[in-house]
Amino acid sequence: EFTEGVPLVVEDVPRRSATERAQQLEDPGFGRYFTDSMFIARYRVGEGWVDARLTPYAPLQMDPSAAALHYAQSIFEGLKAYAQPDGSVATFRPESNAARFARSAARLAMPAVPDQAFITAVDALVDADRDWVPTGPDQTLYIRPYMLAIEPFLGVRPAHEYLFIVIASPAGAYFPRGVHPVSVYLSEDYIRAAPGGTGDVKCAGNYAASLLAQEQAIAAGCDQVVWLDAVEKRYVEEMGGMNLFFVLGSGADAELVTPELTGTLLPGITRESLITVARELGHRVTERKFSVEEWRAGVADGTVTETFACGTAAVITPVGEVKARTGDFTVGNGEPGPLTMQLRAHLLDVQHGRVADTHGWLHRV
Ligand code: PMP
Repeated sequence: EFTEGVPLVVEDVPRRSATERAQQLEDPGFGRYFTDSMFIARYRVGEGWVDARLTPYAPLQMDPSAAALHYAQSIFEGLKAYAQPDGSVATFRPESNAARFARSAARLAMPAVPDQAFITAVDALVDADRDWVPTGPDQTLYIRPYMLAIEPFLGVRPAHEYLFIVIASPAGAYFPRGVHPVSVYLSEDYIRAAPGGTGDVKCAGNYAASLLAQEQAIAAGCDQVVWLDAVEKRYVEEMGGMNLFFVLGSGADAELVTPELTGTLLPGITRESLITVARELGHRVTERKFSVEEWRAGVADGTVTETFACGTAAVITPVGEVKARTGDFTVGNGEPGPLTMQLRAHLLDVQHGRVADTHGWLHRV
């Protein structure tokens, strides 16, 4: 069952041919192709969750006045399933995504999907479409659970009807031709999140509001935006879809610094996992405020030796060039740093089941 008293109906889902699947899995890119099935459940105030089913991946029908389309009452998650060496499939820390989804739902005045129901829905989809979990190097199945308000009503208040949906999309290696540092653009015109806002949850509106700054970054010749705090525009917060780490010093004395969770940045599950892994590998990790001045001065005097971004999609991405109105600078020699690459290799090994999963982070489907 999906959740207490709500059966999970598994429909007969037509399968695309093995040939077509193989073609799409050969070079899946990101978010382009979707698996054969989707999970969908409906919520109505007074009834709770009803009508949970695995059904063919297909367009949704909804009323043009559906609340999410007007007021963005809409949240999502992102996690991955990894083919394991023994032929099984595992997701990475899905209970953390369930918990974050619950916090997002609460912040947007949406109903809770019980953690176990969230995991049941993800498992059911991955199990039904396990043929779609790619097995090439660093390939994964990206899973997108989301919830949106579908009540046909134009009043501004929490809707009375919702859909909880899970879809999945095969994802290619993020760096198919080797790991290369990205260039980043400090957003000095726009902010991502203010104190008391929604920066620490995964709601759709956060991403809509970030697109113009991302275009500005691209126009400036950069790959990604780095967001600063809204109040002083002085402290580094995060990137558009990744958290940031700074390496101070090098060798055995290296210290990792990552912006503390002030309530305006997203608590990444990769961030949290890397804090744990880095400490286990004997590195010091500090969560604190980290200013642009400290970054720039640290790069200039050699204190800041590496910078990297981390998130579900890319695991770890080194940061090279930094562009800002207040002056550009380049971290290290523009190549990925040793600690960046050590942590990257270690986390990928855990996720792909190549080393022991000492924390119980893998969830077999
Ligand atoms: N920050 C933002 C704004 C994000 O969208 C994401 C992706 N969920 C992250 C950080 C990284 O989070 P995670 O490690 O859980 O993918």
